[in-house]
Amino acid sequence: MKKIDYKDKGSILNPLKNLQFFARKPVTEILQPRPASASYRGFHINDLDKCIGCSSCQKICDNAAITMVEIPSIEEDASKGLRNLRPAIDYGRCCWCALCVDICPTGAIEMSREYVHTCDGDETDSYFILPQETGIHGLTFEKGWTKTADSDLLDRKRRPMGEMLPAARIDNFDEIVDGFTLEMAVAEASRCVDCGLCEDACPAPMHAPNYIRSIYEGNLEQAVQWMYETNPFSHVCGRVCTHICETACSLGHGDSDPIAIRWLKRYAMDNVSKTKIKQIARKGKARKKSGKSIAVVGAGPAGLTAAFDLVKKGHKVTVYESLPKAGGMTRYGIPNYRLPEDRLDQDIEVIQSVGVEINYNIKVGVDISMAQLQKDNDAVIMAIGMQNGRSTRIPGSDHKAVVKAVDLLRMIPKGDKFRVPKSAVVIGGGNVAMDIARSLARLQKQKYGKVNITVTALEQLGKTFLADDEEVTESREEGIEILDCRGPRACEIDDKGKLKGLHSVKVISIFDEQGRFAPKYDESDAQFHSAEMVIEAIGQMSDVSILGDDLTEQLEWNRGRIKINENGATSVAWLWSAGDMVKGPDVINAVADGHRVATDIDQYLQN
Ligand SMILES: Cc1cc2nc3c(=O)[nH]c(=O)nc-3n(C[C@H](O)[C@H](O)[C@H](O)COP(=O)(O)OP(=O)(O)OC[C@H]3O[C@@H](n4cnc5c(N)ncnc54)[C@H](O)[C@@H]3O)c2cc1C
Ligand code: SF4
Ligand code: SF4
Repeated sequence: MKKIDYKDKGSILNPLKNLQFFARKPVTEILQPRPASASYRGFHINDLDKCIGCSSCQKICDNAAITMVEIPSIEEDASKGLRNLRPAIDYGRCCWCALCVDICPTGAIEMSREYVHTCDGDETDSYFILPQETGIHGLTFEKGWTKTADSDLLDRKRRPMGEMLPAARIDNFDEIVDGFTLEMAVAEASRCVDCGLCEDACPAPMHAPNYIRSIYEGNLEQAVQWMYETNPFSHVCGRVCTHICETACSLGHGDSDPIAIRWLKRYAMDNVSKTKIKQIARKGKARKKSGKSIAVVGAGPAGLTAAFDLVKKGHKVTVYESLPKAGGMTRYGIPNYRLPEDRLDQDIEVIQSVGVEINYNIKVGVDISMAQLQKDNDAVIMAIGMQNGRSTRIPGSDHKAVVKAVDLLRMIPKGDKFRVPKSAVVIGGGNVAMDIARSLARLQKQKYGKVNITVTALEQLGKTFLADDEEVTESREEGIEILDCRGPRACEIDDKGKLKGLHSVKVISIFDEQGRFAPKYDESDAQFHSAEMVIEAIGQMSDVSILGDDLTEQLEWNRGRIKINENGATSVAWLWSAGDMVKGPDVINAVADGHRVATDIDQYLQN
């Protein structure tokens, strides 16, 4: 080996030679990254407006590379399924598998062809980055890996629901919807990505992701247990819920169908025995009695939910109901072809089996006073709904053949006799208008063999119409004529005092510039709709006269409704109010209200 001689020679001026480099051009070349291939999995791009914050990307990431970060400037709206969370990616963990891209329901997150990222020193945070529409560096790069039909991990189409055809359903009140089979239910449940947006949106809130998972696993009793944690009206909601959850469902954003959450609920409820459901409903019931008693006025969803919760907490609850059966508008408003009576009966039976006592045919304010209820109990809940129909007050609307939709709908399940009109005009374009039109259509078909019903509504079909699209479609299939943009002007009565029909005019606009209801009409575009009966379906109100003068005086009011705080407590210490009479507008909100007042009363009674 050659020996190195450390004792060097050379001049001590040698280092000065380095000065020559100052005059030279730098030899460092700026890196020009080579273009990546078209499906390259580079840094992420996220369209922050398209992203709904569902967290599916975070959940699927096996490397835990994604953290959902709150962005306060982004608007949140649980009812629309919008969270203000956005995925930030830890590129120290990301393995570029693109599962986040392939699961994203909205197609917000994709990958670019950008792959160079440098940072100074030990800036570890600079690897944890929130991708935006322009990637992670704000530079414009071509797209790399984007989802394809093959790589998409979502099953985007819901299992179609079988329905009775119009010809088979028009002369009877049999339930229209068939319901899922086991195979369909499992397949539908398997589409869920467990994002929880549905639960955020549900007022109760029902634990939909949990019961959907239980259905997928074939454990229907567990599914029903999840339902009974927050909803003793699960049969009812499995059929007629307004399914705010489905509006929020992450799969409903973009071009896929939301999970059929309502039909899955119905499937589980229909396939667990009543005995088992009663056992499930009793779970968590207090063993010790509290010695306190509560009176509930009204056996609708709000009153009965509150009663169910309070009985389970050990209190004695007595419900007073003016009608012969419980359920409120779910029995005396919603027609049987949407909600069969036996399903509602089962929800009520389960509630009663837990210990709720219902006294029927007792009208509070008439058969027993509010003062008496106060005297006999520690707390009182008013949940009387909105039983009285509103009137248009147009000329002739006080004629006996001009009736309110809710009054007529109530007569059908009660079995009250009335003369079915050969022709009828319904005023109103909401779901209640469709319910009465479709119920009368069935009665007309049974009695006269044909349907002659016209619905006239202020709102415009396909734009501002209030009834659900499927209600409009099915009504038309059943032979009902729907006239939009028509305003009622007068009911015509002939010389002999007989109703001849309704005059209507074209609607130009419904609201004024301040958004107030102030319809404007084109009087030159007038029509006459001949009818033996005119039905007003333009809204309902509560009959608060039952409170009596003293209590009415003591209570604080808000635009004709009893004023309540966020827990449903009124300004009178012993009185709470829930459901349609203070809030509305549907069963699931009434159920949520019932829970709220029950929790508040329970706390009040413990003090
Ligand atoms: C025709 C129609 C169709 C509907 N369809 C749907 C639907 O598809 N989906 C949906 O989610 N919601 C629907 N709704 C709304 C839903 O039915 C109500 O939001 C819900 O029933 C409200 O519950 P509640 O307990 O507040 O009142 P209610 O259900 O109205 O119950 C109140 C109860 O109080 C009783 N009562 C009243 N006064 C007294 C008194 N003085 N003494 C004793 N008892 C009294 C009444 O008889 C009634 O039983 C519909 C409503 C109507 C009218
Ligand atoms: S999966 Fe898509 S929509 Fe959901 S949070 Fe991630 S990027 Fe946003
Ligand atoms: S049902 Fe829809 S919103 Fe609910 S967890 Fe599943 S995918 Fe998400």
